[in-house]
Amino acid sequence: MRILVVEDEQKVANALREGLEGERYDVVVERTGESAFFRLNTETFDLILLDLTLPGRDGLEILTTLRGKRVKTPVLVLTARDTLQDRVAGLDSGADDYLVKPFAFAELLARIRALLRRGRASESPRLVVGDLTMDLITRKVQRGGQAVELTVREFELLEYLMRYEGQVVSRETLARDVWRETARTTPLDNVIDVHIARLRRKVDVERPVRLIHTVRGVGFMLREGEP
Ligand code: CA
Repeated sequence: MRILVVEDEQKVANALREGLEGERYDVVVERTGESAFFRLNTETFDLILLDLTLPGRDGLEILTTLRGKRVKTPVLVLTARDTLQDRVAGLDSGADDYLVKPFAFAELLARIRALLRRGRASESPRLVVGDLTMDLITRKVQRGGQAVELTVREFELLEYLMRYEGQVVSRETLARDVWRETARTTPLDNVIDVHIARLRRKVDVERPVRLIHTVRGVGFMLREGEP
């Protein structure tokens, strides 16, 4: 499980990283809203820990923008501002949970586990993006009601893109999560591109709406309409 920690205070950020890595989470720390956005444009995460008070764009702005882009990653807001209004504003902007600083690390872990569990429990055995549907049990894929025949790898690739609908998925991420290779290599990049091209032929060709988009210099994105 990958967690993005957005926190400007070095000490707090280090403590979070250490504690979470001790629990075997993969942790990436960003110290400003801008760098967090940049990171989210190229990588996918299972959860975001977001401090509200950041230099530049504050946490609430980040949250609003993320949800505006239809990024569904669970967000756990951390804040020192313990007022009811802030809580309400934070939750209204699309936070999934809220924790007031200072907090006990055990409490943070419990909230993180709950959010990650909730994410899995609400997971439908069917993924839907526009008129594209994927049944994870029967492994049948349809676009506009017509069957799409995929190889095992194409299915895994499409499943990944559908799970992260609206998010940019880099070749590096695909190499790690779909091909399960830790080192990114040029031959593997080519293999990924070939698979994307095949998927496009099967999913997008002769359709009025394209779903698989190339984000130049970064990777790919599945969504209805241009990214
Ligand atoms: Ca802060």
